[in-house]
Amino acid sequence: MDHKVLLKSKAPALVFVALIILFGVISSLLSGCSTQTLANTGGRFKVVATTTMLFDLVAAIGGNQIEATGLMGPGIDPHLYQASAGDVTKMLKADVVVYNGLRLEGKMGDEFAYLSEQGKFVICAEDGVDSAKLLADENNPDIYDPHIWFDVSIWKDVAGHVAACLSKADPAGTGVYSSNLEKYLAELDELDQYIRERVEELPEQQRVLVTAHDAFRYFGVAYKVKVMGLQGVSTDAEAGTADVSNLAEYIARNRIKAIFVESSVPPKNIEALRDAVEARGFAVKIGGQLYSDSLGDEASGHNTYILTLKANIDAIANALK
Ligand SMILES: [Zn+2]
Repeated sequence: MDHKVLLKSKAPALVFVALIILFGVISSLLSGCSTQTLANTGGRFKVVATTTMLFDLVAAIGGNQIEATGLMGPGIDPHLYQASAGDVTKMLKADVVVYNGLRLEGKMGDEFAYLSEQGKFVICAEDGVDSAKLLADENNPDIYDPHIWFDVSIWKDVAGHVAACLSKADPAGTGVYSSNLEKYLAELDELDQYIRERVEELPEQQRVLVTAHDAFRYFGVAYKVKVMGLQGVSTDAEAGTADVSNLAEYIARNRIKAIFVESSVPPKNIEALRDAVEARGFAVKIGGQLYSDSLGDEASGHNTYILTLKANIDAIANALK
């Protein structure tokens, strides 16, 4: 064969290969999980997740294909959590690290930057969510509210993103990840429906949720409940006395039956709010403890995402109806 002809016939193939590589790079960039190839050194695929919500999600999708580890235990506040040396070691030894992003793990920025430098395969839940669905912080439009797990439809997007990224990191597990994802999405649809039905039991004027910090805004938008928090979207700030007095006024005037403490936030601010409402002549009750930034523990029986969100909506509906 003439050399020139050979070159000519190869050229389109080379262009084709280059296009495929380019497409691969672009789709990896768009998918938001890192593109590092992995050297898994035998045994199950090791996945470390920061929060209890992500640990549960990863375990549901990874099943027996992975060995999942969570860094934060039940009741731990992720806004304030500082990674220990042991946590950093766990993340470095993992095949994949999964975190929420949107500054939820506000004190772990340096660790995530370090993992990226080290070429660690990281999955950030934030990257699985269409930015049009994100809520901006009311006080700071440059910051998004990180509490995305309280809108089940958003959490479904995160589940899809995690499954896609795990398949990329561990192609051998693709079948497991996709079949577990399908099952899990059906369970999340049932959960979403359950929450809607329980909200509908409440009279319109009682569809108001007052809690210690602004963790429930996604819940409020998704399920049409008015949400008011004493602190902003991070617990890393004090509630001012003006906030307490305005909220107390609102609760007394609208005769909101109950306000709620949160499992990962000390109850003192909500107790002060209750006293301020009582001082205005209306007896508001503390309607129980909601899980905000962590799932329940084993003893509570609410130690999965689905059980935790059910416990929350049951506490809310039972106290306000
Ligand atoms: Zn929070």
